[in-house]
Amino acid sequence: MNETPTNSGVQVPHEAVASSALMSILADLIGFDTTSRNSNLELIRYVEDYLSQHGVQSTLVHDDSGHKANLYATIGPAELGGVMLSGHTDVVPVDGQRWASDPFVLERIDDKVFGRGSADMKGFIACVLERVPEMVAASLTTPIHIALSYDEEVGCIGVRRLLDLMEKMPVVPSMAIIGEPTNMEIVVAHKGKRGIRVNVRGASAHSAYPTEGVNAIEVAAQLIAHISEVQQDIEKNGPFDPGYRVPHTTLHVGTVRGGTALNIVPNECSFDFEIRHLPEHEIDPLIDTVQRYARDNLEPTMRLKNPDCGIDFTELFGYPALFTAPDAPVVAFVRSLLECDRAVEQISFGSEAGLFSRRIGIPAVVCGPGSILQAHRPDEYVSIEQLETCRTMLRRLVESLSRNGD
Ligand SMILES: [Zn+2]
Repeated sequence: MNETPTNSGVQVPHEAVASSALMSILADLIGFDTTSRNSNLELIRYVEDYLSQHGVQSTLVHDDSGHKANLYATIGPAELGGVMLSGHTDVVPVDGQRWASDPFVLERIDDKVFGRGSADMKGFIACVLERVPEMVAASLTTPIHIALSYDEEVGCIGVRRLLDLMEKMPVVPSMAIIGEPTNMEIVVAHKGKRGIRVNVRGASAHSAYPTEGVNAIEVAAQLIAHISEVQQDIEKNGPFDPGYRVPHTTLHVGTVRGGTALNIVPNECSFDFEIRHLPEHEIDPLIDTVQRYARDNLEPTMRLKNPDCGIDFTELFGYPALFTAPDAPVVAFVRSLLECDRAVEQISFGSEAGLFSRRIGIPAVVCGPGSILQAHRPDEYVSIEQLETCRTMLRRLVESLSRNGD
């Protein structure tokens, strides 16, 4: 086996050394601070320029402000389905995190590459971009589509604009690989998520006369206790899917706001809760249960004191669960690219795969370099070995789509 010395002098297999082209693209991508609150346009323009240098045209789909965009590009015959490689360009904030080095400067130490987004998921995007010259040179008989989104980390928001466009396309990709960090394991399922805001409208009073008001915080507390009971019931009675670390649907209250002073009966309280559900678990009935409790058990008592009191529910955001059959063609295909016959996996975190699969009907798997355990953390990294596995998968993808036209 070829051996190449690394910086540390440790001998590693030759295959474990990522190319300098890949490193340079990844360094560029990490250098754009695409924290979800920022514009991603510099990165998008960089990719657009890079693709156009290789003769590939990009379509940009902007948000309302014009400060963010999705990018969609096709290499090969556009009239055929083909394989979509998809990733989000935004990253989570580094605020309050202690990093050993600048999170927006790629740092390679031995067999690891550090930087915000290195695992989630600029490593994957860099691997895809690095292969573009080969994709172009290969005269693909089946196309490869590159789809990059914004605002994934804040609820898979940006990609919906791209989906609106894709819904109108005469031909959509036949399958998709979403390169979220899965350690290059093939993931076929993840939970779906729904976020809901609850606003409780009470009635103010001097706290010396609390019986004359309707305490919004106390009503919210009763509803939160009810949500917790629903959660405990699911925990006990299921449905269960042992493939997930938390093998059932979960409800969770994440934020509460209310009250202005201790001597005022609060007239407002709002809280946000989320439901993360198993793919097969219908959650509308769960939401109905919570709303019914508010309507039947809480609002009547509130309104006895003041008819203007009430409880409102607003849907915040959500994304569907992913469920791709383990024997679906996309799974067999990606397995062949990885030359592995390992079992498929399920993950607890969400991705855009569910949206591509449910809204557009594109069979999708999640498979990308790096580990979710490193994502979102200080000193996020991706290993060279993971990048190399991804590069190999993409090389085989290009070979396979230029050989046969399926
Ligand atoms: Zn991600």
